[in-house]
Amino acid sequence: MSLAYVALGANLIEPVTQVRAALAALGEISETRVVSASSLYSTEAITADKQPDYVNAVAALETTLAPDALLTALFDIENRFGRQREYHHAPRTLDLDLLLYDEQIIDTPRLLV
Ligand code: AMP
Repeated sequence: MSLAYVALGANLIEPVTQVRAALAALGEISETRVVSASSLYSTEAITADKQPDYVNAVAALETTLAPDALLTALFDIENRFGRQREYHHAPRTLDLDLLLYDEQIIDTPRLLV
């Protein structure tokens, strides 16, 4: 069993609702359980263009999925939440980032942890 930390962020279409629903979706990933979640934080977007504030949170997950499989599951949730990768740092209905996976240092073309 591994311990992974995932950052959640949203700044479009009722972001509080998006982040709460995303926390529930993380709990439905196979071989994975949400063990704790932070409060929701409102943060200003630090982007060149003017964007709505973000709602951010972090969740701790226990999982037996390998890091790459976990990332695929995170992409799947982002896609289900209507994420479109319009441009770098574009506003998003949901962004999920893998912050930590045990104490592993991972540096692949797809995943940097
Ligand atoms: P973003 O648009 O910020 O969500 O970045 C998504 C891209 O970052 C995807 O192509 C991922 O493969 C890549 N990526 C690299 N490391 C990570 C990570 N730790 N968590 C999420 N995405 C990652």
